Amino acid sequence: MAKLCAICKKGFGLLSMKVKIADNQFMCADCNLLAMGGDFYIATNGKSYRDLVARFGTRETWTIDVCKIAIEETRQYERELVELVTKEHRNKCNVCGHVYCYNQSDIAANNALKTNAKLNNTISVFTAFSDLTTAAVSSGNADNAQSRIVDFNKCPKCNSSNIRAFTDEEWEKEKTSISTQTTNNTIVSSADELKKYKELLDSGVISQDEFDAKKKQLLGL
Ligand SMILES: [Zn+2]
Ligand SMILES: [Zn+2]
Repeated sequence: MAKLCAICKKGFGLLSMKVKIADNQFMCADCNLLAMGGDFYIATNGKSYRDLVARFGTRETWTIDVCKIAIEETRQYERELVELVTKEHRNKCNVCGHVYCYNQSDIAANNALKTNAKLNNTISVFTAFSDLTTAAVSSGNADNAQSRIVDFNKCPKCNSSNIRAFTDEEWEKEKTSISTQTTNNTIVSSADELKKYKELLDSGVISQDEFDAKKKQLLGL
């Protein structure tokens, strides 16, 4: 029977990497690299491998459910990181430290929502006299648009308006601290470790037999 990744359910090919996790189940390199790549764990918002360890214990003890949470948070962090790099407005909350960002198209979308909410409110007032159902639907739409309106001058996490612009300088510093923390954490997955041994094999430091033995051990074959 072909083995499937316990997380993404992708089948393993002959050469695909698999990493043993709990209960004789395996995680593929895609999922594992996402979860174990040190960089991804260290978020500017304080999400880090350390944070995950504080909540769930060290990596070796994680269940599949915890792995799934870690991967989800990792992906979320990845999205936030992309936004931080690509969006031109970066704000930092002075109260909780949260960094959030937006660009011109976010502002435009927000303004459209505001116009929509206003329009729907007007419609619901007019229709209230003639058709109660339509009024309910319209005001429902208005509430929906209203609830999605963002105040960029407030922290989305703690709602404080005590915010300031997050400077390019700070971003540079943040990046440096990301790489430092990553080194300190030294998270090495089996797949990463295997890559290391493959390099050693390729450069002739270890023999094919030694590599094969290590591979068997690391992949739990
Ligand atoms: Zn997978
Ligand atoms: Zn805040």
